[in-house]
Amino acid sequence: MKNLRFEVVKEAFQKRPIAVNIPKERPAEIFGKYVFTRKKMYKYLPKGTFEQMIDVMDNGARFDRSIADVVAKGMKQWAEENGVTHYTHWFQPLTEGTAEKHDAFIEFDSDGGMIEDFSGKLLVQQEPDASSFPSGGIRNTFEARGYSAWDPTSPVFIIDDTLCIPTIFISYTGEALDYKAPLLRSLKAVNKAAKDVCQYFYPDVKKVQTNLGWEQEYFLVDLDLYNARPDLMLTGRTLIGHGSAKNQQMDDHYFGIIPERVQNYMKELEIEALKLGIPCKTRHNEVAPGQFELAPIFEECNLAVDHNMVLMSLMKRIAHKHSFEVLLHEKPFAGINGSGKHNNWSLSTDTGVLLHSSGKGPKDNLRFVVFIVETLMGVYKHNGLLKASVMSATNDHRLGANEAPPAIISSFLGKQLSDLLNHIENANNEALFDVKDKKEFRLDIAEIPELFIDNTDRNRTSAFAFTGNRFELRAVGSEANCASALIVLNTAVAEALTQFKQRVDALVERGEDLNAALIEVLREDIKTCKPIHFEGNGYSNEWEEEALRRGLDCERSTPLCIDSYLTENSVKMFESMNVMTKNELIARNEVKWETYIKKVQIEARVMADLALNHIIPVATIYQTKLAKNVKSMLKIFGREEGEVLTSRNLKILREIAERTQLIETGVDELYEAKKAANAIKCIRERAIAYHDTIIPKMEEIRYHIDELEMKVNDEIWTLPKYRELLFIR
Ligand code: ADP
Ligand code: MG
Repeated sequence: MKNLRFEVVKEAFQKRPIAVNIPKERPAEIFGKYVFTRKKMYKYLPKGTFEQMIDVMDNGARFDRSIADVVAKGMKQWAEENGVTHYTHWFQPLTEGTAEKHDAFIEFDSDGGMIEDFSGKLLVQQEPDASSFPSGGIRNTFEARGYSAWDPTSPVFIIDDTLCIPTIFISYTGEALDYKAPLLRSLKAVNKAAKDVCQYFYPDVKKVQTNLGWEQEYFLVDLDLYNARPDLMLTGRTLIGHGSAKNQQMDDHYFGIIPERVQNYMKELEIEALKLGIPCKTRHNEVAPGQFELAPIFEECNLAVDHNMVLMSLMKRIAHKHSFEVLLHEKPFAGINGSGKHNNWSLSTDTGVLLHSSGKGPKDNLRFVVFIVETLMGVYKHNGLLKASVMSATNDHRLGANEAPPAIISSFLGKQLSDLLNHIENANNEALFDVKDKKEFRLDIAEIPELFIDNTDRNRTSAFAFTGNRFELRAVGSEANCASALIVLNTAVAEALTQFKQRVDALVERGEDLNAALIEVLREDIKTCKPIHFEGNGYSNEWEEEALRRGLDCERSTPLCIDSYLTENSVKMFESMNVMTKNELIARNEVKWETYIKKVQIEARVMADLALNHIIPVATIYQTKLAKNVKSMLKIFGREEGEVLTSRNLKILREIAERTQLIETGVDELYEAKKAANAIKCIRERAIAYHDTIIPKMEEIRYHIDELEMKVNDEIWTLPKYRELLFIR
């Protein structure tokens, strides 16, 4: 019998690198080639319109519909010069991918002929049928219609023959059905709150911008091997598979030499990403074999989120050209590292970075400390919610499973910053204020500048680490839309800053000096948010006990974590910051539970299919072979001697028989558990049942399958093994 697996593996290992067309131009020249950048706006739009657009993009001015036709005309002209025939409103529904429906520019003219047209109306707003997108009941209770509306702060871009227009996606009644709408609202909230606090120190500051630099981890698998694994194809991860004898234990992959096939893939990906305005900067091998990372230079948060979404789909498209499949799943392989997407987050003003001290004296130092502490306050008060924002059926396997980072949100600050906070908390006012002139604040810590530029003592086990001029949120999953976490982080920080200002102002109103008031409230907050500050090993068991004592959220189950969205604390935060209403939150939670259920449901089906149609039949073939051998041995040597001589085969024969039996009953029980879970009316309870009963059952089945993989003759095993999937030649 021919073994397909052998053929596929042989083919995969013989593949040669696919050549890449390296453009003649330097990277800086191709950067943004397919983006309607400011420079192009200047060229294709009348001067007045251009200026209005800049005002909209930079200062958040309202987009005046009267210029829509002019803008659309300029865009269309540029697009046509690049061979574009179609346009689409490009949006980010709650499915975690992006959505687009392409329309051609063509319209009938009055004589029944055809013209190409693109009006301002079509640019600004459309009405895609929302009924097939998850809406968590908003659709049922209100209206089926959804609107996509242009987000002029993110530039339009071209993919292939299509002009892509970034849009928000909202219901007829204005509820957000996507990630972008609440993200934009959260950015507005941070801008307002941070600007107000900033003005205590620098009254001229007009705007605070949120920045995001994501680091995208991913796995590559040969496309033919991928196609031979139904579990990878349908669920994005391997549901079964015994670990490879060699995996990441030698630490020889991390930062190692990138295989040529992969290098060519990366080159082409970067070239195409640069053309789309994504400032790719870093590429390297990651810890696990077959695992890599791409990181761009950080950008304004909304744009960076869009770029990450564009990049993820670009990665897939280009991978196919190189005969790879990209795995963005957080945990494609058991027993080795999973993939995350570190979110480097910072705030900056029109004049400088906020989470960094310029060292320009006490005032700037105090400003720096205030922003650090209020960020911690936001994260502390909403640590459970922040975790919920990154939890998913897929990230579950990474966060809940003793892997970086743990399922507890805490913040690492480094020794110097920790000492500084302690100093402020404990020093008496004489030490903080100049004695002669009580009014002058004296945070005379000359070390600040050098210290934070060179902050190298990183703690890799922390979920939210300060790294010199930014915080790095490491819990985000590789597959996730960064917006989910950033909506929470931004809103929490906005709330903390708003409350900080309210309390400072109240003290000033009562006659207290401003600097004294700032210090007083700051001190209070340093004390309050202490539980979130942790410098130790986030993976240790002691930390979990300690975190529980500190009152931090230690829940590991995704369906339960999601409850955090609906606590009074969260609803109050979202509503007071005008980011989401209670209705929207309820609806989105429905979507989250539903998505969770569906993902696990698909996995359970694939698992049952693999067990019954691949594993048991193959194991049975080998079992029959062994049985025949034993039978003939007994015949030749007689029962007594024969049993001794075939003891090994007898043992394996028994093991195969027992394990296939256990797998079979396991699958039956899996069906039963699924049936019982599906009968539960409440979607939250149903998700909990899927988490508590289906997943453990799948793990049990997997255990026996993986044991069988080590017993059954390699020659007849049909599914590519870990050692074949993980190493790219
Ligand atoms: P590491 O893996 O050591 O954390 P990388 O160089 O892979 O570092 O990624 C760092 C990321 O942080 C990059 O995307 C970078 O642009 C981003 N970054 C650097 N400074 C800031 C900042 N002030 N705000 C936000 N992101 C930043
Ligand atoms: Mg990093």
